[in-house]
Amino acid sequence: MRNIIIIGAGHNGLVTAYYLAKAGFKPLVLERREIAGGACVTEEFHPGFRCSTLATSTGPLLPQIVRDLQLERYGVEFIKPAVRVFSPDANGRSLCLFEDPQRTTDELGRLSAGDAKSYPDFVETFARIGRSLAPLLTMTPPNIDKPAKSELWNLGKLGWGIRGLGRKDEYRLLRYGPMAVADLAAEWFETELLRATVAARGIFGAFAGPWSAGTSAGLLLQAATDGHAIAPAAFLKGGMGALTQALAKAAAEAGAEIRTNAEVASVSVRDGKATGVVLANGQEIPAWTTVSNADPSVTFLELLAYGELEPSFLNKIRNYRAQGAVAKIHLALSALPKFTGLNYGTPTSRGSERVTCDTESMEKLSGRIHIGPDIDYLERAFDAAKYGDFSPRPHLDITIPSITDPSLAPKGAHVMSIHAQFAPYKLKDADWNSRREELGDAVVNVLCEYAPNLKESIVARQVITPLDLEKTYGLSGGHIHHGEMSLDQQFAFRPLIGWAQYRTPIKGLYLCGAGTHPGGGVTGAPGMNASREIIKDLKR
Ligand SMILES: Cc1cc2nc3c(=O)[nH]c(=O)nc-3n(C[C@H](O)[C@H](O)[C@H](O)COP(=O)(O)OP(=O)(O)OC[C@H]3O[C@@H](n4cnc5c(N)ncnc54)[C@H](O)[C@@H]3O)c2cc1C
Repeated sequence: MRNIIIIGAGHNGLVTAYYLAKAGFKPLVLERREIAGGACVTEEFHPGFRCSTLATSTGPLLPQIVRDLQLERYGVEFIKPAVRVFSPDANGRSLCLFEDPQRTTDELGRLSAGDAKSYPDFVETFARIGRSLAPLLTMTPPNIDKPAKSELWNLGKLGWGIRGLGRKDEYRLLRYGPMAVADLAAEWFETELLRATVAARGIFGAFAGPWSAGTSAGLLLQAATDGHAIAPAAFLKGGMGALTQALAKAAAEAGAEIRTNAEVASVSVRDGKATGVVLANGQEIPAWTTVSNADPSVTFLELLAYGELEPSFLNKIRNYRAQGAVAKIHLALSALPKFTGLNYGTPTSRGSERVTCDTESMEKLSGRIHIGPDIDYLERAFDAAKYGDFSPRPHLDITIPSITDPSLAPKGAHVMSIHAQFAPYKLKDADWNSRREELGDAVVNVLCEYAPNLKESIVARQVITPLDLEKTYGLSGGHIHHGEMSLDQQFAFRPLIGWAQYRTPIKGLYLCGAGTHPGGGVTGAPGMNASREIIKDLKR
């Protein structure tokens, strides 16, 4: 009996399944929902209107995974708009960060000569630091008490890479990790709108505001993943579900079996060793090895019987911070909204190429759209969550994926996908079901300050609260990353110190999801790293 069960078909579970199948094992993936994909799914929320329901952009996915799984064979088409992020303010000013640093510099020059000068240095600095940190992503964190020789070697190599940065960047790296991202942004830039746009990456999905310590680490992690401190717009044709459907096909072709509508109710344990699972319908499935793609809270607090884990471990896992503060709002639109920060209708020229502003506006809206004009706005949005309420003026990270992928909406219509912060999982004086539409109204009202004609074009609206993230998508506490990505819950501390190597206190039970190193985001790295450790143990 050498069979393996993987609980959950999120993108990490599917990546783990692929590598295990390639290594000659026969993983059986059990997914509670009717579709595979976890937080990476495309769903129809109104007849004819589809979008990536939760994650809208890849982290990006590790290039090694794209190559190993030959994802293009399964029809995966990545879409990378020319714009990373467009940030309007409510007074008709805006800025745009393009993929092309020169275009960005030209654009920033309209706002501040100083910022136009700093930006290329900012981009290059984070690219250098990111390159030196990139090996971290595919590393198994070391055993802190007794590091093995190979772990010391890997750490040494990493340290050597960091030494190679030179003293100035080394100091920057050491300083930036624990810094509040508001301070970091202010060190580099003078325009508030730009500072807030940069700071937004540090608080993405976090229960933290730009003045919270350690939020700059988000920029370092992004740079390690992508070579850039500011998140990309890295979409997929057909939405994020196209990616997980392809991962599922690649895993199945390699020899994995994927079963949907198969909720695991518990992990069976005998003498401290996992022996398989029991499904919600009562079926028992024995297994030699069990791997959980569910988050650490579900895995340890729901799937294991009380008494299987030491009280001290249970206590630590109960204190693992995983209370989310994100809601998603989807709008079906009859037309593209007009943002006041864009100049519609006037022909302009760019270099030798003559473009109409409509084309240019469309391009500017094709990446991510940041709403949060200054650092104080972002911090105030977080304040509400700190005191148990959602923000009446939330920070929004928006995409209109139908601009680059018209297949998502009827002809001429659009879908708008809005990531809204801050909306805490626990509301102080109410429950989410009674305040769902109030949150939707707050988001639309804020957005109308930037795109006044928006309301006229709304055909339908879907509001996904943090409670929905838990109930429908299985994310405990509604946390989008399976737990805070703060410094105290990263690397050798993810999910807990002593248990960051994908193994658990239960023999034969492993973790492979975003609750393990290097955490959330659609990178596939936790799944790939976990498979390496599992294969090592199985071949031993
Ligand atoms: C609203 C939102 C927006 C996001 N935006 C982005 C973004 O733009 N870019 C980005 O890179 N990342 C984003 N993320 C984060 C990213 O999507 C996640 O970190 C990542 O998808 C986690 O993948 P995973 O495979 O580890 O876990 P999941 O995708 O959570 O998959 C876990 C799977 O396990 C299943 N499961 C749980 N319990 C059981 C059980 N008992 N039995 C069977 N199955 C079970 C679940 O149904 C689920 O399918 C976002 C996440 C959310 C929620």
